[in-house]
Amino acid sequence: MNPLTIFARRFVAGERPQDAVRVGERLHAKGIKATFDKLGEDVLDQAAARRATEASKELLRLIPGGIERNVSIKMSSMGQEISRDLCLENVSGILDVAKEVGGFVRLDMEGSKLTRDTIETFHELRKRHDNVGIVLQAALHRTPDDVKEAVRRGDRVRLCKGAYKEPPQVALQDMGEIRRAFMACARTLLDGGSYPALGTHDETLIGETIAHAKAQGIAPSRFEFQMLYGLRKGRWGELVRDGYNLRIYVPFGTHWIPYFYRRLRERRENVLFVLRNLFR
Ligand SMILES: Cc1cc2nc3c(=O)[nH]c(=O)nc-3n(C[C@H](O)[C@H](O)[C@H](O)COP(=O)(O)OP(=O)(O)OC[C@H]3O[C@@H](n4cnc5c(N)ncnc54)[C@H](O)[C@@H]3O)c2cc1C
Repeated sequence: MNPLTIFARRFVAGERPQDAVRVGERLHAKGIKATFDKLGEDVLDQAAARRATEASKELLRLIPGGIERNVSIKMSSMGQEISRDLCLENVSGILDVAKEVGGFVRLDMEGSKLTRDTIETFHELRKRHDNVGIVLQAALHRTPDDVKEAVRRGDRVRLCKGAYKEPPQVALQDMGEIRRAFMACARTLLDGGSYPALGTHDETLIGETIAHAKAQGIAPSRFEFQMLYGLRKGRWGELVRDGYNLRIYVPFGTHWIPYFYRRLRERRENVLFVLRNLFR
């Protein structure tokens, strides 16, 4: 690993798929699930999109039996910005392999210029595949409608706040409003959705989710929490001990800079972590 990578190590499992799988095995031993992500995005060259596609297929085959074969992918690395047909073909290929190995694929949500296309392509994929889910970002103004539609269609949703900087015409800017929007969407998904995933480290949202589920008699087996590798590790065991499903997003690979940058932008503590290591 190059020296810079030391700073990314807190958030990235390693460079090779084997590094991620090893993390997945350690999590599994503690009753925690994983979703594996080979980092990469914004690919504008067909050959590179094919390589990213093949890497995701390889990853699905590499995850050993006993561990859920669950991967997260970014469609912008599968040719989304080149053509929808290419992207559909690539992602369908991944879903076929996922089906062979009993796996599941989550389509991460990227910046708002791709939201509509991501959701439309997802609907297209859902016509032939049931082992695919989507991510919806609570901060976006359009998301309450997307959540209702997802519930109507029986789609599997990971709800998160949204990691991309968006303009006020597209997304809420105030954290209080984003939290309220998150909870409104979370309640809709918990009440009527298909095994929703709540992707957050925010204790207020985790607490309100648990309180809502208890009040409505929604069993913990009907939803899962998700967190990112390297964040709030101390909380993982507590959630599992309390009987909740928890899945950790385990990214790996050499293209970690945009992912790393989003983590720094989100929280001052993440920047402090890097600075502390810089002066160590
Ligand atoms: C599994 C997963 C998948 C994701 N996928 C996507 C995606 O596809 N697209 C996308 O745009 N975004 C994605 N995100 C990122 C998400 O949108 C947010 O940007 C990110 O999770 C930060 O928001 P937060 O709700 O976790 O908490 P933040 O807004 O970062 O933090 C809010 C509060 O949470 C508590 N908290 C947070 N971190 C800690 C900590 N380390 N220790 C103690 N308390 C803490 C604190 O009280 C803090 O004030 C994903 C997130 C997760 C967890």
